[in-house]
Amino acid sequence: MQLIILGSGSPLPDAHRAGPSTLVRCAAGDLLFDCGRGVLMRAAAAGSAAGALRALFLTHLHSDHTTDLNDIITMRWAMSFQPTPLTVFGPVGAASLVEATEAMLETDIGYRLAHHDDLTWQPGTQVTEVEHGVVFEESGVRVTAAPTDHAPVHPTVGFRIEEGSQTVVIAGDTVPCAGLDELSDGADVLVHTVVRRDIIEQIGLPRLTDVLDYHSSVEDAARTAARNHVGTLLLTHLVPAPSPGSEEEWTALAAAQFDGKVVLAADLLTVEVGS
Ligand SMILES: [Zn+2]
Ligand SMILES: [Zn+2]
Repeated sequence: MQLIILGSGSPLPDAHRAGPSTLVRCAAGDLLFDCGRGVLMRAAAAGSAAGALRALFLTHLHSDHTTDLNDIITMRWAMSFQPTPLTVFGPVGAASLVEATEAMLETDIGYRLAHHDDLTWQPGTQVTEVEHGVVFEESGVRVTAAPTDHAPVHPTVGFRIEEGSQTVVIAGDTVPCAGLDELSDGADVLVHTVVRRDIIEQIGLPRLTDVLDYHSSVEDAARTAARNHVGTLLLTHLVPAPSPGSEEEWTALAAAQFDGKVVLAADLLTVEVGS
């Protein structure tokens, strides 16, 4: 199983970090987790594409995690030679987000249908709203969802992907919680969104300090990793984006709480799971 961070950024636009998005390559195909800003540019760099996705999994419906859903729907459809519905798993509310996105695209869909004689079908999606339990099983790959805690944003879910003895967990945005502990138990890699509490408190802007109450700090994520005997903690969705040269500060904060391997995400960072 291979894990590729497509976007390691956050809601804040950044010249070097696309929005939150992680690709898991496994026997079932390319599984995409969240689809933030620039996801298809990074997917192209990783040798994937909208049409190559076996399924899209959404951790929650915050815009930074779903911004480019419209791009995925459009490109998967416009480049297809037969109907290839996009399979989507997400929390309750995902179906209405997808429906509204398709409605937003209606004008463009009309233009393309009118222009391309051989394109005679609408974009298709198959949405399954998930809460807790196994949501996907194919080719020896199993994906399990569990509720996370990103209140007042609700509902939110994390995902555990298992292939043979290899396990990856996508935490999404959450504070430490029982659902995340359940998913993370003994995982090879925990991909965890984090914020730097110390820097944000120092900046002191209310719009920024607001995010502290529904995100894990680097230390919180490290304690979750330690409590659940995770192999590698991969910190992503970095708020604020690390200034050049400060990367070791981030990993040191985590290492003080967790004995395993700590990795700071960058776009297109690739991890061979279990090796
Ligand atoms: Zn969020
Ligand atoms: Zn987020």
